[in-house]
Formats: sequence, structure tokens, C-alpha cells
Amino acid sequence: MNLLLAEDDAILADALTVQLRRSGFEVEHAPNGAVAEYLLLKSPFDIAILDLGLPMVDGLTVLKKLRAARRNLPVLVLTALDSLDDRVSGLNAGADDYLTKPFDFPELKARLHALLRRGRPLTAGQELGNLNFDRNARRASVHGESLELSPREWLLLDLLLLERDRVVTKEQIVAAWAQDRGENGGGNSVEVYIHRLRRKLEGTGLQIRTVRGLGYLLEAEAGGGMTTPT
Ligand code: CA
Repeated sequence: MNLLLAEDDAILADALTVQLRRSGFEVEHAPNGAVAEYLLLKSPFDIAILDLGLPMVDGLTVLKKLRAARRNLPVLVLTALDSLDDRVSGLNAGADDYLTKPFDFPELKARLHALLRRGRPLTAGQELGNLNFDRNARRASVHGESLELSPREWLLLDLLLLERDRVVTKEQIVAAWAQDRGENGGGNSVEVYIHRLRRKLEGTGLQIRTVRGLGYLLEAEAGGGMTTPT
């Protein structure tokens, strides 16, 4: 995941860069609005963190230019002031979410993952194995028969599908639950939900593999291909 971090506070930018890299992001840092604008319009990023108070070109202007160029990558805006005006103008200019400084890194990470889930073009009528998955309608079915999933199971499947070529950690799963439902789900229940979801995925051609010490991976069973209709 390529991430642009536009932040002029060098100490904060350095700390965030280290933590984001540890969390698996490729980070490019822009110390001012002019560099941010240049990089955003030049390179394909998956997501951006944009401070509103940037030198040279302010964050709102960068955001407006980005949207005017019809770039629809998810943008998380950082505001120094807990000012309603800032938030409203940020969201009006096309921010997908915002955080007020100071914030905790786990919260930032959870927001980023939520935005990436939302942003990934895996929407209506996608077929993976025998599973038909409709993110917008929050519906999944197998051979036309709808799959009964609890909200947690749904989020778990959504995350596994989103990261389907990568290992999903327990922490990511717990963070996704917390972000969506405001719960503080314990990590211990992850196994329970993985077990339930495994049973529900029987016959779909998909299986959840446990990667010891790391997490879980959604993959096609041998002989069953994952296809995306064009
Ligand atoms: Ca600033």
C-alpha cells in the first residue's frame, strides 16, 4: 500500500513514517503543500494523509486540486484545531475522513484500513469462487443462496477479501470491528469467528488458512479459481 504523508511537523512526520512502515505501508513524505500536490498528481498512491495546515500550499487547496483532477484516492485529513469549520471545509473539499491532533497511532491505523476497505473497487456482484459478494448491499451468497453472516462475520470476510493476497493479523481484525461498531472486541474471540466463517465458506471454493504466528489468509481451494468478472 503506497501512502503519501503530507505533514510539515518534522517530528510528527518522522514518528508517523516509522510506525506506518512498521504497519506495512510504503510511505512518501511531503513536508509542504507544493510537494504534496506534485507527488499526488504524479504518482499513483493508494491513500493519503493530509495535514490541513501546510506551508506553501495549504491542505485544503491541495485536496481541491486533487479532486478537480478527478483523483479519487481516499484522503484522511489531519486538523490541528478541533474546529468544526475546519472539519466541514475538509469534508466539503473531498476528504474521506479526518482526525484531530493529537491522536493515537492505533486510531489512525484503524481509520486508514477502514478507508482502504471502502475505497477498494470490490463492489456489486463480485464473484470469488462460488461466493458472490456485494459490499454495498452488505450481502453475500453462494450459488444464489444468501449467506447468513453476523456483523462481525461480515466485517471479517470483508477484510479477508480485501487483503485476499495477504496475511490478515488478529490486530487488524480487532481494529476493523472496533472501527465499524465502536466495540472493543477481545482478540480471543477472533478464533471463534474464524471458525464460524470457515464453516460458512464450505462449498464456496474459498478457504481461510491459518498462518501460524502471523494471522489468516483467504485463498482459493486447490482446483477452485478466484475470478473477477470484467
Ligand atoms: Ca501543520
